[in-house]
Amino acid sequence: MRKDIERRLQLCQSLPTLPAVAMEVLRLCQQEEFDMSELAKIIGKDPALTAKILKVANSPLFNLRREVTKVSQAIVWLGVQSVRTLALSFSLVRGLRKPSQGGFDQDRYWKRSIIAAVAARELAGRAELRSWEEAFLAALLQDIGMMVLRQAAGDEYDALLVEAGDDHLRLVELERAAFECDHAEVGAWMARKWRLPEVLTSSVALSHADSFEEVTGDVQSVTRCVALAGWMADIWVMEDTAQATANARRYSEAIFGMDQAMMEETFEIISEKIPEVSALFDVRFGSPQDIACILDQAREALILLNLQNVQRARQAELAVSRLEQRTRQLEESTMRDDLTGLYGRKRLSQFVEHEFERADYLQAPVSALFVDIDFFKSVNDTYGHQAGDQVLSCVARLLQGEVRPSDLVSRYGGEEFVMVLPGVDATQAHRVAERVRFRIESTPCLLPCGTSLRVTASVGVATHAEQTRFENPDALLHAADVALYSAKNGGRNCVKSHAVAVNHGLHLCSA
Ligand code: GH3
Ligand code: MG
Ligand code: MG
Repeated sequence: MRKDIERRLQLCQSLPTLPAVAMEVLRLCQQEEFDMSELAKIIGKDPALTAKILKVANSPLFNLRREVTKVSQAIVWLGVQSVRTLALSFSLVRGLRKPSQGGFDQDRYWKRSIIAAVAARELAGRAELRSWEEAFLAALLQDIGMMVLRQAAGDEYDALLVEAGDDHLRLVELERAAFECDHAEVGAWMARKWRLPEVLTSSVALSHADSFEEVTGDVQSVTRCVALAGWMADIWVMEDTAQATANARRYSEAIFGMDQAMMEETFEIISEKIPEVSALFDVRFGSPQDIACILDQAREALILLNLQNVQRARQAELAVSRLEQRTRQLEESTMRDDLTGLYGRKRLSQFVEHEFERADYLQAPVSALFVDIDFFKSVNDTYGHQAGDQVLSCVARLLQGEVRPSDLVSRYGGEEFVMVLPGVDATQAHRVAERVRFRIESTPCLLPCGTSLRVTASVGVATHAEQTRFENPDALLHAADVALYSAKNGGRNCVKSHAVAVNHGLHLCSA
C-alpha cells in the first residue's frame, strides 16, 4: 500500500461507518452464547428493518408455509444465522448507500454487490457450505474498499473510476498502479477496523484472488465463492456482456473447476433470482426481460468461447505437429551428406544397429556392402575436383537406384559408400553387389565440361546370418571392409564376399 494512502486512510474523517443496528447485531453475534430475544429486540427497535425482514421471510426466497408476523418467529423458523444476515445486509445497504458522487456510480456499485451476493449464495449452495449466509453477506461487502478509497483519495480515485468505467478488472489494475494496492486490500483494512468476523474480512481481502491458500476450511470455501461471485455479477453489470462472460468463465474454471454446463446452470439461477432481490433492496436492475436478455447474451458468449477454445486447441495441435515435422526434417537434413544427398555415418550406425537387432530377433539375415570407386584420385587429378564431385553424385544416384526402399545407402566418406540390406542373405547380397558393380561400370557420368566418364568400383560384402554370425554391427561392417580390401587387392572392379567363396559365374577379380 502506498504510504500516503495509508496515512490518508488513517486521517480520513469521513470513512464509511457501520450502521448502528449492524454494529449491535455483530456485537451480539460475537458473544459465545447469546439470547435470541436480544436479536429480536435489536431488530425490533428499527421498524423499517423489521418490515424488511418480515417481507423476506414471507417471500418465495424462503418458501415458508406459515405467515411470519414477528421477528422472533422469523428467528425460530429461519434460524438465527439467516435473520442475522438479513439484518446485517439490509442495514448495511441502507446505511452505506449514498447518492452518486464524482466518478462513483452508486447504482452500479450496489448492483454489482447485490448480484454478487445472490451468486455467492448460489455457489455456496453448490459447494454444500453449511451456511450460505456468510457467503451472501461477504459478497455484499466485497467492494467496500471502493467506498473507502473514494473518501480517502477523492478526485484522484474519481479519475480512476471514470477511466475504468464498468470494467472491474481494469479498475483493480488502475488502483494497483496508482496506490500499490487495490480496493480489496483497503476493504479488508476497513473490515478489520470494524471488527468484522474473519470470514468477512478474508472474503473482502481475497475478492480479486485466484489462489486461496492463505485461508483454510470453511473460510476458504466462502472466500472462493465470493471471489467468483463478483466476476459472475459483472455479466449483469458490464455493458460488454461477452467480455464479462469470458472473465467469469476464466475464474469459474480456475477457482471452481466448473464445466460449461454447470456455469450455464449457475448463470440461469442467478438471473432468475435477480428481480426478487432487486425488489428487496430497492435497487433497480432493469426489467425482468432485460435481465433475461443478458442471460441469453451470456449463453451465446459461452458457446462462442467454447468454439474458440476448440479451434485454439486444434490450431495448437497443428502447430505442434508442424513443429515436430520440421524438427524431423531438420534432424534428417543434418544426417544427410550435402554433395550426394545420401545419409552419412550417423544414420548408418543407427540403421545398422537397429537392423542387426531386428535380424537376430526375426532370425533373418542382414547384409552390408562396401563400395569404393577405383582410382578415384586420378579422376580428380585428370578432370579436377569439381568433376570428381560430379562423379560421386552420379555413383550415389546409381547406388540408390539399385536398392529397395527398406535398404540404406550411405556415404561412408570420400569415394566410399556403404549399403545395408535387411533380410538379404549372402547369395542375394553378392548378386546385388555384382549388379551395382556392373551398373557403375556400364553407366557413363556426364562431367560439367561435357565429357562423359566411366568409372569402376570394387565391392566388399558381408552377411550376418545363421551360418555367418557376427558379434555386433561394427564387426559386420568391418568384415565388409576387409572383403573390399581383398577386392582391391584382387584387381579392382570386382566383388568379394567375406569368408564365403561365392562364384556364381559373376565377374571375378583378376588374381
Ligand atoms: P583405390 O582404387 O585404391 O580406391 O584408389 P583411389 O584413388 O580411389 O583411392 P584413394 O584413397 O587413394 O583416393 C581417394 C580420393 O578421393 C582422394 C580424395 O582427394 C578424393 N576425394 C575424397 N572425397 C572427395 C570429394 O568429396 N570430392 C572429390 N572430388 N574427391 C574426393
Ligand atoms: Mg472488487
Ligand atoms: Mg577408391
